[in-house]
Amino acid sequence: MSQNIAAYKTVLDEERAALMHELHEIGVPIQSETGTRWEPKVVDVDAVRSDASDVADRLESFSGNTALVRRLTKRINEIDMALEKIQHNEDEFGKCRICGKEIEQDRLQANPAATTCKTHMNQ
Ligand SMILES: [Zn+2]
Repeated sequence: MSQNIAAYKTVLDEERAALMHELHEIGVPIQSETGTRWEPKVVDVDAVRSDASDVADRLESFSGNTALVRRLTKRINEIDMALEKIQHNEDEFGKCRICGKEIEQDRLQANPAATTCKTHMNQ
């Protein structure tokens, strides 16, 4: 493994660990045949004790969690795909999935999980 790739792997491992930690705070893993999917923790709304604004706050935080869970799991998937390449198919790591050219170093440094070069970054 080249030194560059080893450094990217470290960055990816660390980011993944931080994201998983965050995901455990706001989500619950649901095991299914196709693997693990994550759902936002259900907020315990005690309608009797809570006043209306409190309930609204909690519902708002629930829908915020839904969006965050989606964002975290998407990012973790991207990281997993990059780590998978580093582990099993190192030659494919750091190449654009559209044109096959090497992804610019500064782009990889900003995001080692990037799968496209700058030209194709929005595709
Ligand atoms: Zn490209």
